[in-house]
Amino acid sequence: MTVTRYDKEAVLRRYAEERDKRLRPDGLDQYIRLTGRFAHYAEDPYTEMVEREPVHDDVTFTFIGGGFAGLLVGARLKEAGIDDVRIVDKAGDFGGTWYWNRYPGIMCDTASMVYMPLLEETGHMPTEKYAHGPEILKHCRRVGKQFGLYDNALFHTQVTDLAWDESRARWRIRTNRGDDFTARFVGIGTGPLQVEKLPGIEGIEDFAGHAFHTSRWDYAYTGGSAEGAPMDRLADKRVAVIGTGATAVQCVPELARACTELYVFQRTPSSVDVRDNRPLDPDWFAQIATPGWQQRWLDNFTANWEAFTGVGVDDELEDLVQDGWTDLARRMRATLQTLPPEERSPERMMDAFEDADIAKMEEIRARVEAVVADPETAAKLKAWYRQLCKRPCFHDEYLQAFNRPNTHLVDTDGKGVERITAKGVVAGGREYEVDCIVYASGFFVEFGMSLPERAGYDPQGRGGKRLSEHWHEGMRTLHGIHVHGFPNLFVVQLAQGAALASNVPHNYTESSQTIAGVVRHAVEGGFDHVEVTEEAETSWVDLLVANGRAFGSEECTPGYYNNEGQPLGGSTDQGNFGYPFGPVAFFSLMDEWRRSGTFGGLRFG
Ligand code: NDP
Repeated sequence: MTVTRYDKEAVLRRYAEERDKRLRPDGLDQYIRLTGRFAHYAEDPYTEMVEREPVHDDVTFTFIGGGFAGLLVGARLKEAGIDDVRIVDKAGDFGGTWYWNRYPGIMCDTASMVYMPLLEETGHMPTEKYAHGPEILKHCRRVGKQFGLYDNALFHTQVTDLAWDESRARWRIRTNRGDDFTARFVGIGTGPLQVEKLPGIEGIEDFAGHAFHTSRWDYAYTGGSAEGAPMDRLADKRVAVIGTGATAVQCVPELARACTELYVFQRTPSSVDVRDNRPLDPDWFAQIATPGWQQRWLDNFTANWEAFTGVGVDDELEDLVQDGWTDLARRMRATLQTLPPEERSPERMMDAFEDADIAKMEEIRARVEAVVADPETAAKLKAWYRQLCKRPCFHDEYLQAFNRPNTHLVDTDGKGVERITAKGVVAGGREYEVDCIVYASGFFVEFGMSLPERAGYDPQGRGGKRLSEHWHEGMRTLHGIHVHGFPNLFVVQLAQGAALASNVPHNYTESSQTIAGVVRHAVEGGFDHVEVTEEAETSWVDLLVANGRAFGSEECTPGYYNNEGQPLGGSTDQGNFGYPFGPVAFFSLMDEWRRSGTFGGLRFG
């Protein structure tokens, strides 16, 4: 892509103007949950609920959440010889985010070789460089079957209460299906992006047509399937999509092909870079899939990604994965390397990053112009912020969709949709009449909403103390996993650990090894309890806070990366901190910690 010269000051001024337009005092409160009056939006359209008797028994390990976190922990526990593992999930099957998100065109932005967990253990070769959603969902089922995790699982089941019973050294678990059982150990992995949100737009309940959130795609209404069958029931329908994030970028091209008129309501454009997906070659795969390959690829991806920060820059570092993320990192690194070592002061490095980022964003903006025929539409589709202010997107059909005569961009210049009426959507003072509204409005994110709020229950630890109380002034853990006062409980999350957002499953791969190692040690040693000491928890939190490696910047345009531009507070505070020395250092620290066999900071008794 040819990029003409740019005026750096003018670009930065434009970034600030565009951010200021979007800042709003209500921050996250502008959104509503799919509960109460909106509960029907959350119903499961994919699997029918099967009646069953409530469960009253005792298991060694219960994991709450059947996505990648639960599958990985379950698999590692089984390998460690723990047989009675029970996974509980509100969904009708395993898969987590890949269970719920089945919108047309769904695929993964991170290369499947590093994104899909347990490839080596299952012997599965991904079919594409970036796998589509149905393949990932199928893989989740494959893992569930291979590791015997279906045997004891409870689906369509929501935990309502989780309380530590000190006298029996057991967690008592109650659910919305009348279950009341105990577990010696509990894991929680509710996912960073699983609580759906709708924009709290005036009139949202008044719409008389059909509406749904992208994570509950209504194929009964649209026709077609997540596997790619055409949405033939939309042929005479006018459809509105509200939102232009990573989800909309993937489903807009499919909708554009299917419906009569498509209106895409945009508040902030996404940056959309080249995707270049392609099938993987079995001969190539057979060559690289030697023992230990996936761990090598994971480590290589993370090292490449992290090199963009300048941490541990290794000029010889090979890039095995070669995807959009590592490309981004490579460019940053190349710019950094133009600075002589003696000039690599923090200020000069920040300046070099800024230059690399603007050059990349200019390229992405130039791509819009090259692809989109109408110059006015192209101008509105250009993203004016630093690339990592919002989730970078990669697609080869999204921008192209706006060249179709039936696909209309309704840009709201940062203001958003004004109102919903019985007939449609109002923006810029004009009402757009539609038959269907698709809310591609995203999710509340891990660090913007406390764990008890996201999970829907508030664990009670030793002495009846609630987790919300323990985290009243901010999240407190050791390694993001262990919480003082909550024995035999493990949290699987990004926060206070590696906080590696470019490849979420890598975080879980490591946590699952840690949890399986600790549980095996407890079981083999005949210990009833394992708990982090108060001192170890405090010193970990102090380390994180003192060295401040928080996610999101207030200079960015608002979005979930920076808590909509509002400061975090109360229980969500410290929930956006990661290990200050980066994911590579964190993973190596954890590896040493596990291997030592002493599990420093934990007390077994
Ligand atoms: P996002 O939160 O990224 O996007 C929500 C969209 O809704 C934004 O464009 C937002 O605008 C818009 N919006 C909110 N309120 C209004 C309003 N009142 N009027 C108009 N527009 C509004 O959600 P997504 O579901 O797109 O993506 C969430 C995350 O899920 C991604 O960032 C990514 O991490 C993950 N994902 C991953 C994929 C993968 O390939 N692995 C694919 C898809 C999603 P604004 O930007 O102005 O707030």
